[in-house]
Amino acid sequence: MSTEAASDSRDMNDVIVVGAGLTGLACALELQARGLRVLVLEATRRAGGVVGTGERNGFLFESGPNTVPASAKHVREAAERLGLSDKLITSNQEAKRRYLFKDGGLHELPSSPMSLLRTPLLSTRAKLKILSEPLRRFRSPASEAEPTFEAFLSERIGREAARTLAGAFVRGVYAAEIEELGARSAFPRMHSLCTESGGLVRGMLAQGRRTRRARDAGEPLLPGPRTSPGDLISFQGGFRTLIDGYHRALDGALSLTTAVAEIDRGPGGWRAVLESGESLACRDLVLATPAPATYPLVALCAPERLNLDALLELEHAAVTAVHLGLENVTLPPGFGFLVPPDEEARRDPRTPGVLGTLFTSRLFNDRAPSGTSSVTSMFRGGDVADLVGDSLVDRALIELERALAGYRSSHPDVAAPAGAPRVVASLVQRWTNVIPRYAPEHDRRMAQLVAGCARHLPGLHLAGSYIGGVSVDDRIRTGTLVASAAAQRLSHVAGRDGASSAPTTPPKRGEVS
Ligand SMILES: Cc1cc2nc3c(=O)[nH]c(=O)nc-3n(C[C@H](O)[C@H](O)[C@H](O)COP(=O)(O)OP(=O)(O)OC[C@H]3O[C@@H](n4cnc5c(N)ncnc54)[C@H](O)[C@@H]3O)c2cc1C
Repeated sequence: MSTEAASDSRDMNDVIVVGAGLTGLACALELQARGLRVLVLEATRRAGGVVGTGERNGFLFESGPNTVPASAKHVREAAERLGLSDKLITSNQEAKRRYLFKDGGLHELPSSPMSLLRTPLLSTRAKLKILSEPLRRFRSPASEAEPTFEAFLSERIGREAARTLAGAFVRGVYAAEIEELGARSAFPRMHSLCTESGGLVRGMLAQGRRTRRARDAGEPLLPGPRTSPGDLISFQGGFRTLIDGYHRALDGALSLTTAVAEIDRGPGGWRAVLESGESLACRDLVLATPAPATYPLVALCAPERLNLDALLELEHAAVTAVHLGLENVTLPPGFGFLVPPDEEARRDPRTPGVLGTLFTSRLFNDRAPSGTSSVTSMFRGGDVADLVGDSLVDRALIELERALAGYRSSHPDVAAPAGAPRVVASLVQRWTNVIPRYAPEHDRRMAQLVAGCARHLPGLHLAGSYIGGVSVDDRIRTGTLVASAAAQRLSHVAGRDGASSAPTTPPKRGEVS
């Protein structure tokens, strides 16, 4: 990019944020609330990245997240800041029931010691191993290397329970297998609860005590509806409501269909070179983009001694979501079902199975017209790459009918439906390179990368979902933290060179400039 083009640039921004997914939006809102001049550049025609809600024949289908736990502090605080607290909705009570598809049956996940003893999901030996967990104190292994989540959990609750229960859960969250993830990198809170308290149950009890103490000390409740443990939340109208709220709050600071082709150090800081050739100047630059989009941008401007292998080598899951609006079907009461890895291993590989299916009309009342049902089935992208159009919808329906038959076989009191389910609406969403794999040592590699960037490329901030966790709550937290770091750096630089300084006081709740 020529210097002439740079001098043609619009006025200097304090910060440019590349990417208007949740991370970039949360980051920009925090920067704006701190009084900084911010511009968000988004390649596509809409903000939200993977988050969005589509409507088909009266059904609401989520392109990405469907729910977050009611304990998602950062989501609830963002909703309050954006004036959306009254749009937060709590899942129906039946959503606390979850199922696993195993041995051809749909079985409810145990939620108490008694139901654990009765469940057909585990052998007696596996149940005894789980029940003995509180009696065996966790001792850190001699090796410094981070264990896989499978190895870590197998030591606590045994391999069978780790693979069946946690293996299914991992597939639902990361679209990955339990042996592919690092215990500390992928589940940092669970890992530290266990290592600090000497075990999983001990850790959960300690956490419960902390929560009770905080409540007794008068810690304010989270904004939004009163909820109970195990509840899930979303927004009236789906997660699009949250994205629309950010869009409104950032009005004028958000530029859509503005892909960044290059970044470079420019006069007084950084510049983002657009695909159109235009160059935009800023003091600090935040890359809130996924790793595959981030690597080429950083690689062009990084000195050789900055090692970017961690970004380049990072693996991702591809996920295909198939949404169905249905008539003539009664879904089991509950959140949906997941398929444990060993159940899938027994299948004929020519018939791709689902990672899991959400009973979306059972979660929230506004997702499907009265008298109908809706589901979202998740497949590994590569498994269904060859299935196009109706064949993918048919595949999802076959998988659903298989699960419903499995439910009837373990619940003989449930009557068989008169006739087959009818698909009255459908939507297929294919995501490639979408969920980063938090493999063993991922956290350390990323910490080194971030430290290297701060040293060699001051003013450039990495914020994509390869750092800080993949959940919606993690993304809002990380975007906000990166904004705080950028604001602090700018005020420090301003303090030294006399340029305009950013206020460092954190924003008040509900404050949106
Ligand atoms: C199918 C699916 C279901 C999920 N379900 C849940 C759930 O139920 N609960 C939960 O907590 N989490 C869930 N997640 C995870 C969560 O939704 C994501 O981790 C999160 O939304 C990612 O946000 P992000 O902003 O980091 O990235 P993205 O959403 O990927 O946003 C990045 C943005 O950067 C833009 N961009 C990229 N390159 C450029 C460029 N060069 N110039 C300009 N813009 C660029 C992209 O267009 C995109 O808009 C789910 C994810 C998926 C895929």
